[in-house]
Amino acid sequence: MPFEGHLDQNDGWSVSGWAFDRDRPNEPVEVEVELSSGFTGRVRADEFRADLLAHGVGNGRHGFVYRLPLEWKSPAIETITARIKGTSFTLNGSPMSRQSRALVELVAGDIVNNCNLRCPFCIVDYANVKGLKLMTLETFKRSLDLLPITKPGNFWLSCLHEPTLNPQFIDFIEAVPDAYRDRISFTTNLAKRLSDELLERLANSGIHSIRVSFDSRDPAAFARLRQNGKYEIFADNLARLSARLKTSRRRPVLHFITMAFKDNYREIADLVRHGRELGSTIHEIRYIYYVPHVAHWGKEHILNAAEWAELERMLAPVAATGHLSVAGPVNGTREQFEEERGLADYVARETSFGGSQDPAHMVVPDPAVIGRMLPDEALRLRMRWDGVMMTEQISEDLFRVNINKLEYSAAYFASLRVAAMGKALEAVEG
Ligand code: SF4
Repeated sequence: MPFEGHLDQNDGWSVSGWAFDRDRPNEPVEVEVELSSGFTGRVRADEFRADLLAHGVGNGRHGFVYRLPLEWKSPAIETITARIKGTSFTLNGSPMSRQSRALVELVAGDIVNNCNLRCPFCIVDYANVKGLKLMTLETFKRSLDLLPITKPGNFWLSCLHEPTLNPQFIDFIEAVPDAYRDRISFTTNLAKRLSDELLERLANSGIHSIRVSFDSRDPAAFARLRQNGKYEIFADNLARLSARLKTSRRRPVLHFITMAFKDNYREIADLVRHGRELGSTIHEIRYIYYVPHVAHWGKEHILNAAEWAELERMLAPVAATGHLSVAGPVNGTREQFEEERGLADYVARETSFGGSQDPAHMVVPDPAVIGRMLPDEALRLRMRWDGVMMTEQISEDLFRVNINKLEYSAAYFASLRVAAMGKALEAVEG
């Protein structure tokens, strides 16, 4: 038979894999997905995957992701089988057990409201952010019952700001039960001098990953990009963290993030090589995200199409040495900078989300009402230093809740999901 294919994985929400006809290497095939409950569906296997191309699977455009139906009529354990339509060829990896659907995809928290640096490309405008406000350990502990319903690595101690500014930063991590440490991750600029003791505890914490912003090894370029940061402090923190991670038995993943600009793009391939020597598992290269307050700086510093293409060529030799993730500009980004879109009527805010209402006066919204406004998806939650939470899936004007007012936050957010699912079921059943 000329067919090949594999059912790779599912998370209860969707199943993915690839399928291919060697006799027609540049044409997509259709895949039939069958559940043991009797449901059948179809999907065209035409998504591009670099790994397929690298392994000689036609033109690489043979991947698929299929959104699974709700499981309300299914037996407790359901299996998924996939075959190429019109053939008896069953994809390897079939049948696969369907996973249970996660209630929460992400808790993007921040345990402070501020940063020690003022990077000129930061998506947060700190112009009107006042002082340093800290999450309390008590508020953090209220969020911990969300851990069992959140995916590994997806409970963040920092989304927008610098978590090491909280003097209790390491105590927060150690307040997480051992069984759920793998849910925790955070991003840091490593620009505040960190003690040996803190680094030792961190390296042995068993958390999922530490994401480090790493843009340059040139002190002058570092100072331009990481304004207020001193390269010597950053490099010293990083060297000591790396050494401790290499001997740790409960080692978090070391994950670097490099922002690419005119200032540093010619050294990024070397940064990736150096990062590997320091023990990195993942290195992400990112293009700037447009927000109005960075328009002027960005116009002078963003990479044009030719420079970005040159960067991709320079990265090719290091791409095979580990997990390199390269995210180019989102469509329209360069035009947004060119037009300075939204800058004329832009006003800096005091908080990135959640408004200025005193959380003590916030009323807990009825989850049955809010849930019916939500899409049928795992929740993507944001949590502010003071415990104010929202979801990315609905306007914050419609939904904000103070976690300090919830008896049991997992039950509250589970009931949001149940209401969302109930509405989706009604739509299916007509
Ligand atoms: S280190 Fe991160 S959070 Fe701080 S100013 Fe720079 S980009 Fe923003």
